[in-house]
Amino acid sequence: MWKNDRNLLLFIVALLFVVLLFSWGAGRLRWSAFPVRFWHVGRQNAQEGQIQASSEGVNGEKSSDKGKVALTFDDGPDPSHTALLLDGLAKRQIKASFFITGKNAESYPELVKRMHEEGHLIGNHTYSHLQLNRSNRELFKEELVKTNDIIKEITGEEVVYVRPPYGSWDKSFEEELNMFPVLWTIDPLDWCTGDAACVINKVVPKVKENAIILLHDEYDSSVTAALQIVDELKKQGYEFVTVDEILFD
Ligand SMILES: [Zn+2]
Repeated sequence: MWKNDRNLLLFIVALLFVVLLFSWGAGRLRWSAFPVRFWHVGRQNAQEGQIQASSEGVNGEKSSDKGKVALTFDDGPDPSHTALLLDGLAKRQIKASFFITGKNAESYPELVKRMHEEGHLIGNHTYSHLQLNRSNRELFKEELVKTNDIIKEITGEEVVYVRPPYGSWDKSFEEELNMFPVLWTIDPLDWCTGDAACVINKVVPKVKENAIILLHDEYDSSVTAALQIVDELKKQGYEFVTVDEILFD
């Protein structure tokens, strides 16, 4: 009897081991994902609790829960616009994700520090906004590492997420550098118009649960649009989160 129990236990342990090994091999499991995931589950529950607690206001109004969306900003920080955007996000208690270049981080470290202190996610956008191509793989990798070092020097935290300029990426970097690429689902091409209303109209109708919106915090129109997008989508019942909360769901 004792022997059978032990065999059963050994069998269960072996089975768990095989499943873990398989998940690892299939690239679905990363050590770095664990703390992030568990932390987020805890935080998410807390947030859901808050939403439930506040879902019936004094007027008996119910806020609908349409799901999560993420605002992401590339190419910053920008000396004339990022602070304004951070003010607007803070006022609305919204956390966003910033994919910054090493060059700009070096030039405006106080803005990077502020992003970090205010709870925004900071990701890597290469040092010089380099597009990966067939002949510059090593240089691209060097730029990622250099930018990680610059950001870590300012925030004290490892950089896990990268938005590769123009979306050009080599999957083998994920293992080599332990970094995740973050693309987007809505790109209103905000850099080619100075019209905030035009940007808003290209974003809001396309938004659905888990949307990742791409903007650039170096234009007046993009900052204005971003804050109005927040107000509109919050009214519709969306919850703004940093992009990692969407990727790990
Ligand atoms: Zn860019």
